[in-house]
Amino acid sequence: MQESEEILRLQMVNEQIARRGLQDERLLEAFRRVPRHLFVPPPYRHLAYADTPLPIGYGQTISQPYIVALMLSLLHLRGHEKVLEIGTGSGYQAALLACLAQEVHTVEYIPELAEEAAQRLKALGFENVFCHVGDGSLGWPPAAPYHGIVVAAAAPQVPQPLLEQLAEGGRLVIPVGNRKYQDLQVWERHGEQVESESFLPVAFVPLRGTFGWQEEELW
Ligand code: SAH
Repeated sequence: MQESEEILRLQMVNEQIARRGLQDERLLEAFRRVPRHLFVPPPYRHLAYADTPLPIGYGQTISQPYIVALMLSLLHLRGHEKVLEIGTGSGYQAALLACLAQEVHTVEYIPELAEEAAQRLKALGFENVFCHVGDGSLGWPPAAPYHGIVVAAAAPQVPQPLLEQLAEGGRLVIPVGNRKYQDLQVWERHGEQVESESFLPVAFVPLRGTFGWQEEELW
């Protein structure tokens, strides 16, 4: 069983990530290490290495592996960084970040998901990940500034607190747009300036909270 999952995982890395042009060896090694099937609810486990997003409960999803890889590659991490993730969800992307950076803070709005992810990450031995419950549209000020921030939910606009919590040279990767489609954007801080660039169109679950979508706009 374990062995066949490893084979599926290596296939996922080769076919869905490397062959599509993401070939940074540290990134590929992180995807080879993290057992994605343990982050997916049992009914979907047989699809854990498929080229698709999957439900994780509470109306939320774990993103398609390629999209996770693309977002992480856009952070330009080298290994010494402190990073922030908004939207812990299953904890999968946080586990990958733990392989790619020195210290990871991740914030989740839904307490049940946060608790499950924290337990899973602990059980798997990821000791450099700190899980927090709260409104990540406000960032996580206690550990700021961050060299990288990645937002796993769609925002109507870039939340100002996230720009403020970027370190010098730090990069923020975030889907920005309407409820259905967004642009994957990268913001980079240089002194008082922040520059942005747009990458491909994506479709994420909505960011909630103060700088996200308001509850009455959600349904
Ligand atoms: N990175 C996750 C996928 C997350 S899906 C993984 O690898 O599994 C997006 C997550 O963002 C959901 O769990 C949702 O509850 C969370 N979310 C939405 N708005 C948020 C907010 N304001 N603060 C923190 N988390 C938020």
